[in-house]
Amino acid sequence: MREALAGHRLALVGGDAREAVIAHTLSGWGARVRTYAVEFTTLCPLPGFHRSASLEEALDGATALVLPLAGTDDHCQVYAPAWGEPVRLTTPSLGRLAAGARVLVGQARPALRELVTGAGLSLRELADDDELAILNAIPTAEGAIALAMDHLPVTLHGARAVVIGFGRTGSVLAPMLRGLGARVAVVARQPRGLALAQALGLEPVPFDGLPGALRDAVAVFNTVPAPVLGARELDALRGPAVVVDLASRPGGTDFDAARERGIAAILAPGLPGRRAPLTAGLNQARVIARALLHDTGGPPEPASTLAGAEKRGGETGHGT
Ligand code: NAP
Repeated sequence: MREALAGHRLALVGGDAREAVIAHTLSGWGARVRTYAVEFTTLCPLPGFHRSASLEEALDGATALVLPLAGTDDHCQVYAPAWGEPVRLTTPSLGRLAAGARVLVGQARPALRELVTGAGLSLRELADDDELAILNAIPTAEGAIALAMDHLPVTLHGARAVVIGFGRTGSVLAPMLRGLGARVAVVARQPRGLALAQALGLEPVPFDGLPGALRDAVAVFNTVPAPVLGARELDALRGPAVVVDLASRPGGTDFDAARERGIAAILAPGLPGRRAPLTAGLNQARVIARALLHDTGGPPEPASTLAGAEKRGGETGHGT
């Protein structure tokens, strides 16, 4: 993997502490990396990449533009929370990229999609990448458990925890809670998910059993991006309990109803970047590298086979 990205000229624009890790790692794998509006981080003391003075300089001749998972807003302004000024993508700025360049992003809003395709470039969305979602489920689950612990006067060990949804995040989180000694119920709508939960020693609960499952719960984790925890369900909670809602905004909890009932309910977006930016950045770098290699006819290596390669990242920084 060391030189696998040789020949790739990448522009990394915007993001948070993860992007510095991504830039560092990809340059260690042979790519020439320029960044703009990337937050400097002590996670990578030897950057190994070039920090451009302007957006245009970063984009000039790049074969791929790598945007943060959070992407842009509806006006193509790039997510860059720690950057002092707005960073906006325009048709002339994208025109700086090499012909046929790709734009990689988590999920593209319609305005970005229009801009990219209008400029004759191709778009690669990573948000639905199973491998990235499963790898990100690990820091998400750890972060969710940490949040619950911060709000609880009891241990999770011996307590009842309810995980709603058994997709990529729920199926990583539930066994982790069980490993801590919690009594874990999994609420899912598919027979397959319920059977898998049972096979893993978790209590399977169909959705109509949710209020019953909540009755003695201390920690409730929602991963379903639909309204599943309304007033009726919240009424079932007794005693000190915390709800950690992991689903994308606006979550699946009626937060007003929770407030009225004095229940601590937290919407917790972006946990991988907030709780474990180094891990999350490395995961993202691996998946970006796989996407770049696959799209250019290289081997479609699973990102997991790149594990460990990041330890060499930065040794051969190809900063320009
Ligand atoms: P996923 O693999 O698609 O899992 C979602 C689960 O929700 C599946 O079990 C799905 O059931 C279920 N579901 C969806 N709509 C439902 C409905 N209307 N009623 C009942 N169940 C429903 O997604 P994921 O990767 O686990 O992510 C889950 C959510 O967390 C997403 O919103 C994602 O954006 C978010 N997320 C947040 C963080 C964070 O830091 N907070 C990190 C990662 C992901 P079926 O299998 O039956 O469809």
